[in-house]
Amino acid sequence: MVLGKGGSGWKIFFCGSHHPGLGSVCLLPYAVARGQKSVSRKVLDELKQQIPLLEYLQTYDWQPARALNGGRWMGLCPLHTDHKPSFLVDPHKDLFYCYGCGRGGDVIRFAELYHQVNFPQAVTLLRQWCGLAPLLNAATDFYRIQLQRYNEAIVYLDQRGIHSCEVIEHMRIGYAPGRCLRSWLTQLGYPLSVLRQASLITAAGYDSYSRCIIFPLESNLYGRSIQDSALPHRFMAGSKGGLYLWEQVRRCPEVILVEGLFDYAVLWQAGFRNLTCSLGNHLNAQQFQQLCDNPRIIYLAFDADTNGSGQCASQLLSRRLWAQGITVRRVVLPVGHDPNSFFVQGGDASQFQSLLEAARP
Ligand SMILES: [Zn+2]
Repeated sequence: MVLGKGGSGWKIFFCGSHHPGLGSVCLLPYAVARGQKSVSRKVLDELKQQIPLLEYLQTYDWQPARALNGGRWMGLCPLHTDHKPSFLVDPHKDLFYCYGCGRGGDVIRFAELYHQVNFPQAVTLLRQWCGLAPLLNAATDFYRIQLQRYNEAIVYLDQRGIHSCEVIEHMRIGYAPGRCLRSWLTQLGYPLSVLRQASLITAAGYDSYSRCIIFPLESNLYGRSIQDSALPHRFMAGSKGGLYLWEQVRRCPEVILVEGLFDYAVLWQAGFRNLTCSLGNHLNAQQFQQLCDNPRIIYLAFDADTNGSGQCASQLLSRRLWAQGITVRRVVLPVGHDPNSFFVQGGDASQFQSLLEAARP
């Protein structure tokens, strides 16, 4: 299964044609573009409260390398070429300091330095960062309403073995019919430029996910086209994020990892709940880190591709996880199958359970 490459976080999201650092300053809202003085102290404090520094750093793939006392962290500096961790983050004070390049400050200062923009531009970027979650929720609501209205979507889900309302509810599955998204979102007050920048809307003004089944992720949307002629997998610009619904399973001593959300859906429907998904067989740094954050047993149930690529990816990942002290069992599916097709072609929970029990390192 080939999916869009997980990028390096929201860098891409902000590097569209409207990136203020690329000379499009005229596109900034006036109140901010006029300068620092027009933004009141109170507004800035509120903005900073909405954006925990550590969370902001992590959307740019920053990883803590070691813990210090007082809940502080050290890691590589994202602001200069750093070979040993010299970047200190204090999540309680929401401040950073780099012992390498000597720079430090709050989240606004970080945004200025990282994106190489001035103060009001950094404030605008941070506001956009805050605005993404509500925008994603609004789009998700729209797509979920459409799902029940379009028979083609229900027929497609049925073909992929998804029948239960519970799983549709649990995964918040929706459908993009290819119309009305733009007017729905602009009526809610989102400017067209923001929708384009988030890559929800194409340059020509159409829904980017036209005729896709939609699965909302933590900070992105995954779309699976129902048309054979179209690109099968779609994401918004930006990272695919961490493992799917990881918070719900991170305390399980045994976790099943699958490649695709349709695999996840049929297994969940069959009663398997200690389940997560990496959206492709290549894990990004955040996903790998999540699997390693505690001792556990991972059941790798990747696709058994006829060309062996899923098996190869599974073997490689297995070795990397063992090296981190994680116990891995590789689930062997019949060749040419993934967990989704296994269930679609008549496999049931007890047969899959037998595969789990037969899984070997
Ligand atoms: Zn530095």
